[in-house]
Amino acid sequence: MSYNLTGKLQKISPYNPIEGDYKIRLDANESYINVNETLNNKITDAVSKVLFNRYPDPFAVKVCEAFADLYDIPKDNVTAGNGSDELISILSSCFFEKEDAVLTIEPDFSMYAFYSSLYELTPHKLQKNENLEISVDTIIDYCNSKKMKAVIFSNPCNPTSLGICREDVIRLIESVKCLVIVDEAYMDFWDQSVINLTDKYDNLIVLKTCSKAIGLASIRMGFAVACKKITDMLRTVKSPYNTDAVSQALSVAVLTEKDMLRKNASEIIRNKDSLLKEINSICKDNNKIDKVYDSVTNFVFIKTSFAKDIQQKLQNKSISVRCFDGYLRINTGSADENRIVIGALKEILTNL
Ligand SMILES: *Cc1c(COP(=O)(O)O)cnc(C)c1O
Repeated sequence: MSYNLTGKLQKISPYNPIEGDYKIRLDANESYINVNETLNNKITDAVSKVLFNRYPDPFAVKVCEAFADLYDIPKDNVTAGNGSDELISILSSCFFEKEDAVLTIEPDFSMYAFYSSLYELTPHKLQKNENLEISVDTIIDYCNSKKMKAVIFSNPCNPTSLGICREDVIRLIESVKCLVIVDEAYMDFWDQSVINLTDKYDNLIVLKTCSKAIGLASIRMGFAVACKKITDMLRTVKSPYNTDAVSQALSVAVLTEKDMLRKNASEIIRNKDSLLKEINSICKDNNKIDKVYDSVTNFVFIKTSFAKDIQQKLQNKSISVRCFDGYLRINTGSADENRIVIGALKEILTNL
């Protein structure tokens, strides 16, 4: 038997997360802060109460409540997903008709265009300018003139580390007739969220994740925040038990630690700020580095045609960072980890 994969599958290329063991991992924008002992006890206690023989709560009600309380939004606007990644997949597969036009603004998180292609939508791509910025008017004009069914982007943006201010996002939502999906995976590190506007705008969906500032990348928990009409439909089309009971118990234990979460986010921002400052000072006057971008996220984005080489040399020192075509993305670690990375970068750049 010779089975041929369909054409669309043959064309698709896989998402390539970095694998392997490194002493310092700064390649996936995770939080470097693991749960402390007190919280670990609370988690153990919560997990010990899970009924392993029973299906989980299909709507993760307690998790959605804790999430809604943390961000001060109505719980009825929240859908829990197996990572926000699953929610991007559900939105792409269920909220459109075949070949509907969906706009991404490049460079951005690669999964948006990935799922659009996989589900046979028509992906459209607008390119940011040399500074990796784009005017909201350009996006609005494109959506309206080319009749987009949705525009999806991360804000702040992964990988550029730059953000679009709230006022501009609101202007976009108000000026287009299509769905506006704003992925706020990194908004805990900035203050321009539109998460509280989903009752006002029925074309707005905000995505959130526990994988970054919350520090729970291991458990796969993400959220879509939207008006009731969209939320009801998301809950209808998702698979019934998409988030498991252990992850639910664990998320509630962590999401209810509001003070700790805010403190952790501020600490991460402080460390990112000093990482950015250090990188700026070693890269200023270095002709191998073209540009270091400002950052409103937990990572730093660097333009250099030596990206691949630098990544490889860091990897040889057991430090993992992410490389894109002509760019490096380094997320902040602890102060100690950052010191080691800065030392390694200095050495590598001197000998390049
Ligand atoms: C990391 C990341 C996600 C992934 O979130 P999960 O909840 O871990 O699936 C989504 N969007 C962006 C922009 C990210 O960088």
